[in-house]
Amino acid sequence: MQKIDKILVGTHNKGKFIEISDLLPKKIKKISPVDLGIKSPIENGKTFKDNSEIKAEFFCKNSNLVTLSDDSGLEVDALNGEPGILSSRFAEDLGGFQNAMKKILEKIKKINKGAKAQFISSLTIQWPNGKKITKIGVIRGSLTDIRGKNGFGYDPIFIPEGHSKTFAEMNYKEKLKIDHRQIAYKKLYNKIKVYF
Ligand code: IMP
Repeated sequence: MQKIDKILVGTHNKGKFIEISDLLPKKIKKISPVDLGIKSPIENGKTFKDNSEIKAEFFCKNSNLVTLSDDSGLEVDALNGEPGILSSRFAEDLGGFQNAMKKILEKIKKINKGAKAQFISSLTIQWPNGKKITKIGVIRGSLTDIRGKNGFGYDPIFIPEGHSKTFAEMNYKEKLKIDHRQIAYKKLYNKIKVYF
């Protein structure tokens, strides 16, 4: 069995690159597709799993390196799971996350069906020989007015269950210990630790 000494962290998103890199053992070298000049694939899957597999396959094929990719997003219960797999696009279309967060809060206030939501992460590890493993992590929580300056994306409106701070009010390490990527990674780690 070939041990893994370097991994391509298959994302162009800086926040996610840092989070995923920090989940992995320190001794493993983390490589960004940006440094190799590899662009992002079109994410045309129907689920988070589809999209993390599309990304992992694409980056793995183009780098010939073991690749770890994530597809993640925010699902709001009262909005039937929106923005979901379109979380990134939703913000882009509205000109950024501040507008996207305001829009979501406006929508749920209008509907008045509560503020429950969840972050989902699908993590896929792909080997150049075609082997791949995918695990999903979910963290439930509720939405609140924009609070906090840390993190990225929708962090300022999400309070994980059992906590009182938003992800953006938590320090980086606090969030990393409990978030959806960590939950998915723990499941994945059990399957891949033999390669480390
Ligand atoms: P993608 O997986 O790159 O398609 O984009 C996922 C999008 O979901 C990100 O751009 C963020 O908007 C959002 N997202 C995913 N994970 C997090 C998180 O941990 N905090 C805040 N927003 C997140």
